[in-house]
Amino acid sequence: MSATTGARRSPDTDADVVVVGAGPSGSTVATYLARAGLDVVVLEKATFPREKVCGDGVTPRGVKQLVDLGVDTREEAGWRHQRGLRVVGGGSVLELDWPELTSFPGYGLVRPRRDFDQMLADHARAAGARVEEGVSVSGATVDERTGRVTGVAARRGPERTPATYRAPLVVACDGVGARTALSVGIGKRDDRPLGVAVRRYYTSPRHDDDYLETHLGLHDRPGVGPDLHGGYGWVFGMGDGTANVGLGVLATRQGDRRDYRALLRSWTHGLPPEWGLIEENATGPIGGAALPMGLSRTPIYRDGLVLVGDAGGMVNPFSGEGIAYAMQSAALAAECVVQAMARPEGPSRERALAGYPAAVRHELGRWYRVGNRAAGALGRPRFMHHALRLGLPRHRLMGAALKLFAGLSDGRDGSAGDRALDLALRLVPPLRDDAPRGTATRKEGIVAA
Ligand SMILES: Cc1cc2nc3c(=O)[nH]c(=O)nc-3n(C[C@H](O)[C@H](O)[C@H](O)COP(=O)(O)OP(=O)(O)OC[C@H]3O[C@@H](n4cnc5c(N)ncnc54)[C@H](O)[C@@H]3O)c2cc1C
Repeated sequence: MSATTGARRSPDTDADVVVVGAGPSGSTVATYLARAGLDVVVLEKATFPREKVCGDGVTPRGVKQLVDLGVDTREEAGWRHQRGLRVVGGGSVLELDWPELTSFPGYGLVRPRRDFDQMLADHARAAGARVEEGVSVSGATVDERTGRVTGVAARRGPERTPATYRAPLVVACDGVGARTALSVGIGKRDDRPLGVAVRRYYTSPRHDDDYLETHLGLHDRPGVGPDLHGGYGWVFGMGDGTANVGLGVLATRQGDRRDYRALLRSWTHGLPPEWGLIEENATGPIGGAALPMGLSRTPIYRDGLVLVGDAGGMVNPFSGEGIAYAMQSAALAAECVVQAMARPEGPSRERALAGYPAAVRHELGRWYRVGNRAAGALGRPRFMHHALRLGLPRHRLMGAALKLFAGLSDGRDGSAGDRALDLALRLVPPLRDDAPRGTATRKEGIVAA
């Protein structure tokens, strides 16, 4: 089935939906759309396999998304299973197993993104999506008369040949750079938190750890110091002889110029020497990127352009985790796009598309609001110092905090704690996803040919 009406100019560059980017959000949305019978083209600037700077950790919330998508998450299929989180800080070490819940499995995963993203892109291909690698999108094309997005302008192949892809809907899954959204004037909101994270791989005896290890309260560590507000470090065993070691912090101000690579070096320098996290054992350079948190690019739907994953600023503001939210927002977007494309162009289709921001608001809006507030508090060293001293020795309290921070509560589990957390979140008004007050929303884009 193809929902596009009217004559096609080119079967190669025209589609029902153009998806920009084949990270977790792009491949997920493309899989769902192709399965529903839509003609989907995914444009990815890189060629697989490619590196993506990440901690490579997937919490049970992300595992649920993979399972929903039909991905085999058994160890035999190349995943490393994780039992839970080990929290180190304030002089204590606490091991918290992932809770076994109605909606979420009791295990997490690790897998290098180099492999993970290629596997997901192949999944989209198997579902029928046309995934084109080596195609770099420069911006959305816009109908000058209506202001509606009509496709994207791109350059493809080693020759960087210009090409225009046309579709009634474009789904921007191009990550934190959000080039497609920027091309139509949808910028990052300054009233929502932004994180920065850096990571490096080392060969290390810590490679076969069954827990994702996080180190809180880094500002107390010698050699790291008060520069690290609201940050945490991690050591995630990859099971292949290496560990993914990194740190994530809140960017405290616009144009933050702190040297995060140097901070990572000084933090790893203070870790036990037997872990082997030294220059000679590094298997590559330090990589880093920004973490757009708490719905920080809005509106996430306007005039034929849908923003998903990091392009919509969907990263968890408590933890900096983004894969689960990239995939969840992709699933929510796909549901609305499928409904929309079965309707005639015009108000009826737009009503279905308005369902996407409404669904994100409903599923995540309250929790983002709490998370964005919490990110401010977690960024205060004194608050963190006291919270760690009081919280870490209390296993049940930390178990509840884990559920909140990792988004692992849905009120269906039946335990008093789960119900209380769910009820508390329901009392919070959802975070709005409309254009930020006082922000001009330009509609530029590239005028459609
Ligand atoms: C250091 C670090 C550690 C992290 N650790 C974790 C972690 O352990 N767990 C976790 O859940 N999250 C983690 N995150 C966050 C996570 O990486 C992101 O939230 C997630 O990758 C978002 O997925 P996405 O599909 O929205 O975007 P991306 O994964 O960024 O994918 C975007 C894709 O679009 C392509 N693209 C970009 N621009 C264009 C263009 N113009 N034309 C065509 N293609 C384009 C890119 O090549 C890329 O393939 C970490 C982030 C960082 C920086």
